[in-house]
Amino acid sequence: MSDSVSKIVIVGGGSAGWLTAGLLASQLTGDSDAPVEITLVESPDVKTIGVGEGTWPTMRITLKKIGITETEFLSRCSASFKQGTKFVAWSSGNEDEYYYHPFSVPAGYGELNLASYWQEQKDRVSFVDAVSTQGHLCDRNLAPKQLATPDYAFVANYGYHLDAGQFAGLLQKHCTQRLGVNHIRDHIIKINGSPDADIRSLSTEGGMEIEGDLFIDCTGLRSLLLGDHYGIPFISRADSLFNDTALAVQVPYAGAEAPIASQTTSTARSAGWIWDIGLQSRRGVGYTYSSAHTDDEAAFEVLRQYVAANRGPEIESLEPRKINFKPGHREQFWHRNCVAVGMSAGFLEPLEASALVMIELAGQFIVEECPADRTSMALVSKRYNKLFGYRWDRIIDFLKLHYLLSERDDSEFWVDNRQPEGISDSLAERLELWKHRAPWLTDFPYQDEIFSAASYQYVLYGMGYDTQVRRNARYQASSNAAQRFFVDNHDTATRIISGLPSNRSLLNNICRQA
Ligand SMILES: Cc1cc2nc3c(=O)[nH]c(=O)nc-3n(C[C@H](O)[C@H](O)[C@H](O)COP(=O)(O)OP(=O)(O)OC[C@H]3O[C@@H](n4cnc5c(N)ncnc54)[C@H](O)[C@@H]3O)c2cc1C
Repeated sequence: MSDSVSKIVIVGGGSAGWLTAGLLASQLTGDSDAPVEITLVESPDVKTIGVGEGTWPTMRITLKKIGITETEFLSRCSASFKQGTKFVAWSSGNEDEYYYHPFSVPAGYGELNLASYWQEQKDRVSFVDAVSTQGHLCDRNLAPKQLATPDYAFVANYGYHLDAGQFAGLLQKHCTQRLGVNHIRDHIIKINGSPDADIRSLSTEGGMEIEGDLFIDCTGLRSLLLGDHYGIPFISRADSLFNDTALAVQVPYAGAEAPIASQTTSTARSAGWIWDIGLQSRRGVGYTYSSAHTDDEAAFEVLRQYVAANRGPEIESLEPRKINFKPGHREQFWHRNCVAVGMSAGFLEPLEASALVMIELAGQFIVEECPADRTSMALVSKRYNKLFGYRWDRIIDFLKLHYLLSERDDSEFWVDNRQPEGISDSLAERLELWKHRAPWLTDFPYQDEIFSAASYQYVLYGMGYDTQVRRNARYQASSNAAQRFFVDNHDTATRIISGLPSNRSLLNNICRQA
């Protein structure tokens, strides 16, 4: 290995591999006094996971950085706009009960904590409708922008729903044809270098030897480099998050003009929850469940009933696909000259679609901190492990929040989820504080927290958490300002509802232009 980091090898051609390649190639190659060569090698024999359809708004920034236009992305990946998640039957289990966790922060966020003032009117208006316009847009299947709104700009904040296979295909074409990424389709059979030293090179079935200075392990659940070669232990988080199986189907729309939902819908069921994601061409629907609390046959029946009740055809015609996973992550993510990105680093149930955003964050970290030489790599890896270890913990806390606030007692799954041993001290402490004041910026140390206080507010108050706010002089002093924010939000909602097209019509128009 040379002392400078000039050859980066990415192993794996799923969403993790190609997103990382795109972020690195668009920002590290080209005109530079320290040019970096990027090679991606993927096995023709090992399929990608092929799911992962919901993104965060961060994906707009990522695609822009990579240099893909929004029109190209939307038209090539059957993509649609996602404005947040609608949680159905999570609190009491009633089918007509729901709340939204939208992508926009509450009105006045950063200036005034409206969650405190909303408590006075919580019997009259939901939290999301009091502080955000996005629940109204989602209720009406409205797009977050107009045809004239520029690429990646918005009226209401949004991410995407996308077809994972088409997405990897688009990224591959863009990275190889426009960003100069070397692409090798060959199966890695050997990692050269002893487990207590740096990786020197990779040997392939086709007889190649691929050398590199930094190796990025994007081999999915196999974790070929970090897990197999280096033996970095896997930390199970199944004590907190029980779901370990998914049953997924692709459901056709009832007709070409059927509405496209503006959000992912997550419907709670007796041993987990069902995702429902509307792409342009079809819906992706799946049941994520705990194998300790149900069996495959019962899970299949739950999914069958959901599809039948939601305008789908007979499920038997849809070829359901079962995916097993272990909730958890590696003990470290960057070891010596190898960093794991994507499912090789870990995976948790997709309740808040947090996997792709972790890939985007990882890719951007590598770009920004790309070690100049081998000595600084040790320092960079230390920082990376600390930051990403913190992020995994925060994701687990936030996912667990959805379960422990539920009052469902229709199955052991929900009762077990509220047992204190599965709840971290950090989450328990915050919940104690939030009995007397609403979550706020000061609750979390990082500016770019993976789940901010705003997200906690939407889930807590969507699920009926009771905060007894003290109305001290400070509170009273800002009461008028708070009322103005509520009124403004209401007026904005009324105005933009009438000006926004439906998702379906906007997507049709954009794709016609493409
Ligand atoms: C049920 C389910 C639903 C999900 N929903 C969401 C969601 O809504 N939002 C979200 O953000 N994420 C979601 N995810 C996660 C998301 O799908 C993944 O994070 C994402 O697809 C990245 O996968 P990957 O690239 O790490 O792995 P994979 O797609 O598995 O890719 C692995 C790659 O490694 C290669 N490989 C393996 N072995 C070798 C070898 N020996 N030699 C060469 N190459 C090799 C394979 O060929 C392949 O290209 C979901 C996951 C599941 C299971």
